[in-house]
Amino acid sequence: MDINAYKGVWVFAEQREGVLQKVSLELLGKGRELAETLGVSVTAVLLGDQVKDLAQELIYFGADEVLLAEDAMLKLYSTEPYTKVFSRLVKERKPEIVLFGATALGRDLAPRVSARVHTGLTADCTSLDIDEETKNLLQTRPAFGGNIMATIICPDFRPQMSTVRPGVMIKLERDESRQGEIITCPTDLEPADMNVEIIEVVKETKEKINIEDASVLVSGGRGLSNKENFVILDGLAKQLKGIVSGSRAVVDAGWIERDRQVGQTGKTVRPGLYVACGISGAIQHLAGMEESDYIVAINKNASAPIFDVADLGIIGDVNKIVPALEEALKQAKL
Ligand code: FAD
Repeated sequence: MDINAYKGVWVFAEQREGVLQKVSLELLGKGRELAETLGVSVTAVLLGDQVKDLAQELIYFGADEVLLAEDAMLKLYSTEPYTKVFSRLVKERKPEIVLFGATALGRDLAPRVSARVHTGLTADCTSLDIDEETKNLLQTRPAFGGNIMATIICPDFRPQMSTVRPGVMIKLERDESRQGEIITCPTDLEPADMNVEIIEVVKETKEKINIEDASVLVSGGRGLSNKENFVILDGLAKQLKGIVSGSRAVVDAGWIERDRQVGQTGKTVRPGLYVACGISGAIQHLAGMEESDYIVAINKNASAPIFDVADLGIIGDVNKIVPALEEALKQAKL
């Protein structure tokens, strides 16, 4: 393989029902940074049906170029047609880096594309950089249960492919003065490429909690002792106009739903304020929240590791401090 024939950074522009997923915009931000270091351009790859309007948005968020492939068979995500179109574009146009969001859809598509184009894939990267000397992509992700960070390279094959979880990278400001080119690509799909029939799409009716988008998170851990005590966080969250989240310990204990878990195997969050209540600060938890703007930690153990990342630490019983904080906030608003 002549790896020098591969140029440019690609981002898979994931859309669902014509709505661009936030992670794709975040990856365009990171893609721009990598592309500028390499002196190449950033391409967004947009697959769907009647999604042309989104192409301009991708340019406003940092793409130099958008490869647009529209087809009725790409309207709803289905593994085979998406893999076929994406893999063919990679083979024809030879990008050096391809980034996907580590969403349910991205996690399905990325490994299939990497297998078809015969290259490697690093899943769930938490940082991406360029090696100054070799120009290889440095793909960093937690390994061995999060106890070490491993930096993975793909020196002999191209493209270098990674998935990145939502909330890890930072999107650029939308800028309508950004210019770019929209290139329409044929899909060449045939009916035989659709090997599944989507009969009906049934959406989960439960209201979806998106802790990644919250500007304030009140997060609870095992220090709250039980499910009954855990509800005291609701009052504080309400006063702070925030959302309740938690550590894996409380999710495993069934005190809150899994979609509210912060950490390596949960969500990566970056709120303006993160209040950690009775959370020890295990490395796997810190991996998901240490980039928060302001961290308040409440813990009865002064040497709990959560205090190492906290901007403000309160040593004491969470069951007393949380209601007292809530009351103080109520009084302050009177
Ligand atoms: P504990 O570690 O039990 O801490 C409870 C804390 O509460 C202690 O610091 C204690 O001093 C304090 N406390 C007790 N009583 C009180 C009180 N009355 N007042 C104030 N403080 C009190 N964890 C995650 O959170 N997210 C993940 O995504 C995640 N992924 C993982 C992936 C792997 C592969 C592995 C191996 C582990 C993962 N974990 C994850 C688990 C992680 O290692 C910890 O076990 C977990 O974060 C601990 O949760 P905790 O802080 O709530 O509980």
